[in-house]
Amino acid sequence: MLSKSHPRYDSLLLREKIVKASKEGYLAESAMIAHGRGEAFDYLIGEKTTYPAKRAMYVACANLLLAENPVISVNGNTTALARDEIIDFSKTVDAKIEINLFYRTDERVKIITELYKKHGYEEILGTLDDDIKHLNKIKNNRSTASKTGIYTSDCVLIPLEDGDRAEILKNSGKKTITIDLNPLSRTSQMSDISIVDNVVRAIPFMNEIAKDLKTQDKKILMEMVKEYNNEENLKQSLKQIKLKSE
Ligand code: ATP
Ligand code: MG
Repeated sequence: MLSKSHPRYDSLLLREKIVKASKEGYLAESAMIAHGRGEAFDYLIGEKTTYPAKRAMYVACANLLLAENPVISVNGNTTALARDEIIDFSKTVDAKIEINLFYRTDERVKIITELYKKHGYEEILGTLDDDIKHLNKIKNNRSTASKTGIYTSDCVLIPLEDGDRAEILKNSGKKTITIDLNPLSRTSQMSDISIVDNVVRAIPFMNEIAKDLKTQDKKILMEMVKEYNNEENLKQSLKQIKLKSE
């Protein structure tokens, strides 16, 4: 049992969730390494949501609310860490949820599908019986997408995404929003909106932001999107790391 007074309690709790998910059989072997990479960057930003991350979250929510067919992509790690929060958020912004695994196996897709269904989300996409297409006619497992989900989506939220897949999504003309603790990852560098934060803090925060923005005039949301500069914001995110070392 973890003691709440442990100085690394929150971080250890997340590790436990990842270990549990791994035992349940829905994480790829490399998932723990990806988590560790995220942890290191989280340490460097002080394990807090930074101002540039908040700014990116506002614009991300505005985009999702303005989109025709917004989709949230989930994998093993995001399911292990933030499944219920993602379900709540999807309802707020009226987005679909789609399973996309870096190392897709039928077994892992099946377990993740059942997990979402068991927790009240029946409409999950990217399942074994879904109509899966290939984006940009690229015939590999980085390009797969559900016909009614990511394949036809205009705006995708891709937390903890791999760079190759992020590139394919971007090249297919979709607005791409990532949540990635590493501001230097290829995914962060090429996305339209890069939220440099832990997915466990970002999703509940975005849920609150979206509830607020939903009540605003669409013109205000469009203005927010227009004014945002991701390159500049990513530079600010990087500076958050530098500040800690000064
Ligand atoms: P890329 O392929 O985009 O260059 P990468 O190869 O470095 O990235 P991947 O393993 O493909 O990394 O993707 C995992 C990414 O998710 C990493 O950048 C890591 O920092 C980030 N990450 C891991 N855990 C979390 C988390 N809990 N919240 C947000 N980001 C996380
Ligand atoms: Mg990668």
